[in-house]
Amino acid sequence: MTASVPDAQVLHVLKSVWGYEQFRGVQQDIVRAVVGGENALVLMPTGGGKSLCYQVPSLLRKGVGVVVSPLIALMKDQVDALRENGVRAAYLNSSLSPDAAREVEAALLSGELDLLYAAPERLLTPRTLDLLARSEVALFAIDEAHCVSQWGHDFRPEYQGLGVLAERFPDLPRLALTATADERTRADIIRVLSLEDAHLFVSSFDRPNIQYRIQQKGAGKAGPKSELLDFIRAEHPGEAGIVYCLSRRSVEETAQWLSAQGVAALPYHAGLSPRERNSAQERFLQEEGLIVVATVAFGMGIDKSNVRFVAHLDLPKSLEGYYQETGRAGRDGLPSTAWMTYGLADVVNVRRMLAQSEAPEHVKRVEAGKLDSLLAYCETASCRRQVLLGYFGETLPEPCGNCDTCLNPPQTFDATRPAQMALSAAIRTGNRFGAAHLTDVLLGNATERVRGLGHHQLPTFGVGKMLPDRAWRNIMRQLVALGYLTTDAAGHGSLIASAKAGPLLKGEETLWLREDVLTPPSSKKARRSAGAAALGAQAGNLFEALRALRLKLAREQAVPPYVIFND
Ligand code: ADP
Ligand code: MG
Repeated sequence: MTASVPDAQVLHVLKSVWGYEQFRGVQQDIVRAVVGGENALVLMPTGGGKSLCYQVPSLLRKGVGVVVSPLIALMKDQVDALRENGVRAAYLNSSLSPDAAREVEAALLSGELDLLYAAPERLLTPRTLDLLARSEVALFAIDEAHCVSQWGHDFRPEYQGLGVLAERFPDLPRLALTATADERTRADIIRVLSLEDAHLFVSSFDRPNIQYRIQQKGAGKAGPKSELLDFIRAEHPGEAGIVYCLSRRSVEETAQWLSAQGVAALPYHAGLSPRERNSAQERFLQEEGLIVVATVAFGMGIDKSNVRFVAHLDLPKSLEGYYQETGRAGRDGLPSTAWMTYGLADVVNVRRMLAQSEAPEHVKRVEAGKLDSLLAYCETASCRRQVLLGYFGETLPEPCGNCDTCLNPPQTFDATRPAQMALSAAIRTGNRFGAAHLTDVLLGNATERVRGLGHHQLPTFGVGKMLPDRAWRNIMRQLVALGYLTTDAAGHGSLIASAKAGPLLKGEETLWLREDVLTPPSSKKARRSAGAAALGAQAGNLFEALRALRLKLAREQAVPPYVIFND
């Protein structure tokens, strides 16, 4: 074990190698612990400065610091940057020629390296493990350590093999680093890497310079792509951004469409050739004001400081995924936007994917919980930042004052009656129809389909006339998000009243839902005032309608026809 090193010496390394005057936050404590030979688990948001936590100790301890990273594409950049600072760094991965790999191995054995980056599958070969056993190693750093966890969004089976490091090298410090902080992932990292005795270092996950916003799809007439375009033009013209879509096809379509509108955008997804992907990544890093439209395949480890916005056109997989993806905005600390548009179809879609999943029951239960947290975040009427940080176990004492719900507090309304109507419409029609058909029934639209099925004769036909079409979409979306309505496993988009709906239908429960924020802020300057005014105007209409509904119901007095559980 290395004895403790004076702080002055540590700071000297920081200054002379990287040119930095001081450490950020917990960096120095981490460095001190690892230099002293202790194990550590570091939870720090993206851009927080995890690399220095293992790079500095690698220079201060005898031997080579071995860094496990899943990001083969970025290893070369990292190593080049270190070499420029005079650090003797190298990497081992499948991109090296056999000759080049042998050179690195020779340097390792003869003690000529300060830092060695390796892909996990390469590190875990008997050959490399044997080489390491014969070399002097300063420490093992496991970067992006959440990859060990099946619960995470970046599971890499190879990472699970890293448990052997503790067995083969019990006396060397192990340092696991990740920006994913939830309990389950943390527990997996500790278990797989045998870090039970490790010091835990947690930095705040708050990213105060990121403004979190979620806009309901359908707020703009022309669809989500043009809502995105309006957002970019109004708030981030000519600035760098990342747009996330679920499918390769929508990535391609969106990138093409944006380019056709005069906004420079490149597609990025796993279906492109490595050359195309590299070129997109390079251009994004090097050029100013470029937008990458991507699947989640894009972004991990990409260190571009001036990404001004991250947009989601589809729901992310989980709040962890959302936090990581949005965290790629504003690493330079300047104001940035996390913008998302989402609607009923997204909710139905993710619920359906979960229903169709063939994962074992206990896995599905966890996934369902994660999905509930994500949807609760989307639908919250309180500060988004508080909800987001709360999910990661952090408390933000005051509302942030910067997210959409703080700037334009959404109204909530007593939606008990309309919810009963929607649920009854689903039940009366046999739990076999999607939102569009149920809305037709509620609004009393005697479409061909409605008449063909005889649904115009149901007691629920036309009971919801007093609310506009989009109010019903809003209500049904929230009912699905909250689990009162579920979706069919076959994926037809049918909405099914769940067991949870019972008490609500019997009138034993009241339900408050959020009014939608229907109008995006119009421009940077006028954001607060114009956004709020327009919102007020639109919400006004809906509130009028709801008030009328309440009056009507009060006048009717009788047991309404849609409370069928009382039939
Ligand atoms: P992470 O891996 O946590 O996402 P990085 O290690 O890539 O973050 O660091 C993000 C950025 O912050 C890098 O540009 C890095 O040079 C810079 N940085 C980290 N620590 C310091 C520091 N103590 N002083 C100045 N800049 C720092
Ligand atoms: Mg990193």
